[in-house]
Amino acid sequence: MTEFPERLKELAAKTKGFMPEPEGLALFDHTLKVGKKVSGPIVEIGSYCGLSALYLGEAARILERPFITIDHHRGSEEMLPPSEFFDPELLDPSTGRFDSLATLRRTLELADLEDFVTVMVGESTLISGLVKAPIAALFIDGGHGSLATWNDFNYWSDKIDQDGLLMIHDVFSDLKDGGRPPFEIYTYAIHMGDFIEIAQVGSLRVLKRTPRL
Ligand code: MG
Repeated sequence: MTEFPERLKELAAKTKGFMPEPEGLALFDHTLKVGKKVSGPIVEIGSYCGLSALYLGEAARILERPFITIDHHRGSEEMLPPSEFFDPELLDPSTGRFDSLATLRRTLELADLEDFVTVMVGESTLISGLVKAPIAALFIDGGHGSLATWNDFNYWSDKIDQDGLLMIHDVFSDLKDGGRPPFEIYTYAIHMGDFIEIAQVGSLRVLKRTPRL
């Protein structure tokens, strides 16, 4: 099995974000297992500062597949004041506005992944019209509010190829552990019969697209 490189593990440990290493390694491992029969790019919604892009981008590089990471970089509601997750270091000093784009670019540069990663800046709903189906894998980790989460699911999940992956972060069955919307799209995807679960690591859920009828 291909190991995630030590130098990227060290970089991940220094990168801002909310992706524990075991969950990041699961992103890497499962994305690597996407076979040649599954078509299209790997897509991430919610780049933030590029922590999960290290795992997905490295897998895409090895697979020789495009990897697209999408974010408006103005901070989802969980990243802005008064949230406990707000990081004042991400305010652009020239405008006073939240901006995680420069930090993402720096992460990809340090990782030597710039040549393998396409950064798309904007609303995921609008960008969905620009990325054709099929896609091989989708990682949803954008805004965790109800509208943002459901939009990410509704605008993108139908593009996933048969046997392709739907990976969802921050899925908590107990409300005391975190917000509900990621859990809602996870249960909906399985309940509707379009996906089956293949792995749970921390709050990461990895689902596989079932054959289309
Ligand atoms: Mg997350």
